Amino acid sequence: VTSIGPVDHILRAALPWRTAAELTECGKPQSDLANRVVTRAEAADRIRRLGKERASFGLCMTCWSAADRHQPEGRGADAVAVVARALTAVQFAAGPFYGREVSPQWRERQRLNVEFEGMVALVNAHRDEYDAYLAGRSETVSLDERRRRRRRPRAGG
Ligand SMILES: [Zn+2]
Repeated sequence: VTSIGPVDHILRAALPWRTAAELTECGKPQSDLANRVVTRAEAADRIRRLGKERASFGLCMTCWSAADRHQPEGRGADAVAVVARALTAVQFAAGPFYGREVSPQWRERQRLNVEFEGMVALVNAHRDEYDAYLAGRSETVSLDERRRRRRRPRAGG
């Protein structure tokens, strides 16, 4: 317990295929923190209203700096960054060999492997829809690119 009392923690961005974030930016399970968790938007709003100095008394500093580092405000959700962070956290997780206990990282790694297996199974079961979706997305990207090129002023005026 500190003189400023308990602080609120900031939720991490959820993996794109999960329905909710489970960890705070500082790595605590949100289920352990009951009412002491805010979203990134809520934290940003509080900082805007109170200013950085006053907001800092009520927010976990580890969460605050991790939120800045992993997903700076205003840049929007980047699925690659969110997935990379989750995979990096379990990259070197070792199994419970030689009588070692099962670590939370190993459990999470197993869970992610099962989720990837599920995604592959779904893609294989709906291969045509998946391919059509990707084809549609790449058309959208090339259309955007063509529009952007058209808007660019020509060299030499
Ligand atoms: Zn925290």
